[in-house]
Amino acid sequence: MLYGIISDIHGNLEALDVVLNKLSRVDKLVCLGDIVGYGPNPNECVEKIRELKMPCVLGNHEAVGIGKTDSTWFNSNARAAIQWTQRVIFQDNLDYLRDLPLRLEEDGFEMVHGSLRNPIEEYITSIADALPTFKKMVKPICFVGHSHIPLYIALKKDGNYVGGDLSDGEEILTDEYEKVIINVGAVGQPRDKDPRASFGIYDSKTRLFSLHRVVYNIDQVQQKMKAVGLPQRLIDRLATGK
Ligand code: ZN
Repeated sequence: MLYGIISDIHGNLEALDVVLNKLSRVDKLVCLGDIVGYGPNPNECVEKIRELKMPCVLGNHEAVGIGKTDSTWFNSNARAAIQWTQRVIFQDNLDYLRDLPLRLEEDGFEMVHGSLRNPIEEYITSIADALPTFKKMVKPICFVGHSHIPLYIALKKDGNYVGGDLSDGEEILTDEYEKVIINVGAVGQPRDKDPRASFGIYDSKTRLFSLHRVVYNIDQVQQKMKAVGLPQRLIDRLATGK
């Protein structure tokens, strides 16, 4: 089965549409959370995920949006954006977000927004961060989002660890490792200095993962964000991917 794996859409419909177009030939799409927050089209993005019946886990922005957690750990821009999202989101979309699970399993992999130790809050950006999740993994692969930076961290068959950033076109033959954690990057707000939307493709038959980047109309999203009064810093960062 060929999977398309997306994460951190953040209300960015232009980026989501381009990514879904690139993934039109996969067998199944899955989403690692943060459909909303930051961007100007939360309803449209949630509706698209719902229409496509995409299995999806809960992200930290959804958790704040539905009142499951408070926004204490959000910076002022993230807080302003989620408060705006709470004002505009339709009740049925909010109900959908409220029912999202923390963790899901598919053929040969599991998925969570942040980490298996702390599903919606913890970032995995180093081998040290990854250790508790490796311990909890029940499948050989765990896909994560949350940091908006595509990377992999693997436990090798000899017991050592290896990892690194993933750029456009990079592949990982997951079978080479005992266990591997892969961050597929963000569709709607990349932070690795590459402003292109990020997503992954995983073939459960060959166990090959590949990371992909695609350009989208950033200017159009920025204009929409300006029109609804979202914070300037959030508008600016889309163009730089920082
Ligand atoms: Zn996010």
